[in-house]
Amino acid sequence: MRVLSVDEVIVLLSAVQWSAADMARLREWIGHLAQPTECIAVIERAAAGRPCPHCGSARKHRCGRASGLQRFRCLRCRRSHNALTGTPLARLRKKECWLPYLQCLLESRTIRDAAGAVGVDRTTSFRWRHRFVPGAMRDRPKRLSVIVEADETYLLESQKGARNMTRPPRLRGGVASRRGINREHDCLLVARDRNGETCDFHTGRGRVTATQLHACLKPVLPADVLLISDGAVAYRRFAKQAGIMHEAVNVKAGVRARGAIHIQNVNSWHSRFKSWLVKFRGVASRYLINYSGWQRLLDARRLTIPVHLLCVAVQLG
Ligand SMILES: [Zn+2]
Repeated sequence: MRVLSVDEVIVLLSAVQWSAADMARLREWIGHLAQPTECIAVIERAAAGRPCPHCGSARKHRCGRASGLQRFRCLRCRRSHNALTGTPLARLRKKECWLPYLQCLLESRTIRDAAGAVGVDRTTSFRWRHRFVPGAMRDRPKRLSVIVEADETYLLESQKGARNMTRPPRLRGGVASRRGINREHDCLLVARDRNGETCDFHTGRGRVTATQLHACLKPVLPADVLLISDGAVAYRRFAKQAGIMHEAVNVKAGVRARGAIHIQNVNSWHSRFKSWLVKFRGVASRYLINYSGWQRLLDARRLTIPVHLLCVAVQLG
């Protein structure tokens, strides 16, 4: 296609009969226009002074630019890298659309909707979502503070989008074949402290076990933690093995709280997550942690503009 000049585009636009909805779309699209250099400047600022991602050496020299980014050659391992090497964003194209796309993530737009708003196709929109979200999800606390509520929520396992399903499709829609929590359910474990800092883990299928709790929670709990959970045996066992203080609320018996001993913060996080998920009409199990991480980001309201998300996404893991 021949590239049109701005004057030609304006002539074409003035010949259009605009409806109010079209006008709104055009305004939105213009609002999303960004200079390609703006995005590149943000990326290079966020990665400034970073050592070689291959060997960790700080000794490097500049060697030209590629895809808009400064390239460096490492003096120790001789390999080249740029600000995105080793991040989930390496080799993604169309950087001029990244900041507008990140705005769509902040607005929790669907893949189709974001593709339309930014002017990329749906496969690109899908690929970007699952690169940007894991990048931005790295903004998570290394350690929680003293009082931590932990609880799991279960979602029916989903093979949405899979080419080869490992089971026959569910004929009755989203209903498990057996009652209760079983191997047909994905377990999302959430730990939240009283400052609102949150950690999320996809522990696999079926009920959470003490071993899984140990692997997920132990590294993020401080030594003097008070862990609060429901009456599930796995928590009691884990707390005993790990030697940490533990209180359980007997939710099943209708006890919701004993003073400050409750799991209402984590439970309301779960319900916010589940109602936010509705618009995506089911998420594939393999992406569950991406969605929960995405919701965690939005819920924390720490990263509120596209530039914030981009800065976190270009950090090395
Ligand atoms: Zn190196």
